[in-house]
Amino acid sequence: MKFDDYDIAPGIKRSLEKLGFKKPTDIQFRSIPPILKGEDVLAIAQTGTGKTAAFAIPVISTIEFRKRPDRPDGVKCIVMAPTHELAEQIAGVFTELARHTRVTVLCIHGGVDQEPQIAGLNNGVDVLIATPGRLFDLVSQGHLRLHRVEILVLDEADHMLDLGFIKDIRDLTNKLTNKRQTLFFSATINEHIKDLAYSLVRNPIRIQVSPKDPVSKNITHSVAFIGMDDKRYFLERVVNENPESKILVFVRTKVRAERVLKAMERVDIRCVTIHSDKDAAERNAAMAQFRSGEVKILVATDVSARGIDIPDVDFVVNYDLPDKPENYVHRVGRTGRGMKKGLAVSFCSDEEKEVLGDIEEYLTKPINRVEMDRSDYAQTIDFSREHDWKTLMAKEEEFQSKKKKKKGK
Ligand code: ADP
Ligand code: MG
Repeated sequence: MKFDDYDIAPGIKRSLEKLGFKKPTDIQFRSIPPILKGEDVLAIAQTGTGKTAAFAIPVISTIEFRKRPDRPDGVKCIVMAPTHELAEQIAGVFTELARHTRVTVLCIHGGVDQEPQIAGLNNGVDVLIATPGRLFDLVSQGHLRLHRVEILVLDEADHMLDLGFIKDIRDLTNKLTNKRQTLFFSATINEHIKDLAYSLVRNPIRIQVSPKDPVSKNITHSVAFIGMDDKRYFLERVVNENPESKILVFVRTKVRAERVLKAMERVDIRCVTIHSDKDAAERNAAMAQFRSGEVKILVATDVSARGIDIPDVDFVVNYDLPDKPENYVHRVGRTGRGMKKGLAVSFCSDEEKEVLGDIEEYLTKPINRVEMDRSDYAQTIDFSREHDWKTLMAKEEEFQSKKKKKKGK
């Protein structure tokens, strides 16, 4: 089946052609028809399999076919996403796909001035992509009315329905008409979240592709046992052995993100970081540098992992293991997207062996072990630039000058 054969707005087909999308992916093939029919859908499909277009194509088409030619009449679809970055990315896909239709798209999220967003809403918007905080702010201030919303999409649905957001989502659905269509998309889901999803819809849901192995077969992933204090040497080695690769490094906390950045700077490796202590402008700048390849290493916390699509990330390093097993899937899923292949390696210290067990239980299979003998391990540390004489001299100088400064005070 080709996109050409679908009964969707012709303008979307033009965009798909420009994007070079010829055939639907599996999840697109399975979810576009029921969404076009107006059914509620809970779609679980592996990372990088094209879930965004799987809901964007039928949503834009439905709105385009129903659109009144005379006047704008309020937001018709709300897409909720957990982070600014993801909201922007989804909005980019909608904008691209809707370019040759009359459907209008706007993205709103916190961390930036709300006035331009309000002005945008007043111009008439069909599809609104939003993070929860700013959405509810604008609703409570009366800038956004929900009475025309016909379709609600939750991307990264399990995360959106998780504790922190569920009350907000319920409040939102209570404000929407009962006739609405609800779409849930994610790479991971559990029974509890599935029940929550069911409680938000009236029509029976269609469950789509639900893979046994949540990790995409495009990803080769393994685990190496590395002492907590030695991890930086092994990251240095991974970077040096893959000089052309874009590498995404995940750490447990924002403090550790900055610490890894410093450690890499000491050995002349340039990184950028992204975490919740950074404001929207800093995060955008870091993402842009990483996207363009100007900086090849991005150090991130889990918050930023969900859904982000950077097509040429070749390598994911779990510098720390994730606390929640499903986040393992989301982290390694930043590589091996679409048709591409990807590599992932996790650094597991003694303290993290229990967490590793939980992850493997979640995946229902063991992760490949990296074979490393003692001398290989020791060499990685010995060969670190941190131990070459130039770096040691520089460190000593820095130490002496600090000492002098202190004395001078
Ligand atoms: P997911 O949400 O499932 O993790 P995305 O929607 O972010 O995946 O898409 C992953 C990548 O696949 C994107 O770079 C996107 O441009 C590409 N893609 C999506 N649909 C198709 C298609 N039908 N043909 C080719 N590439 C596609
Ligand atoms: Mg996605």
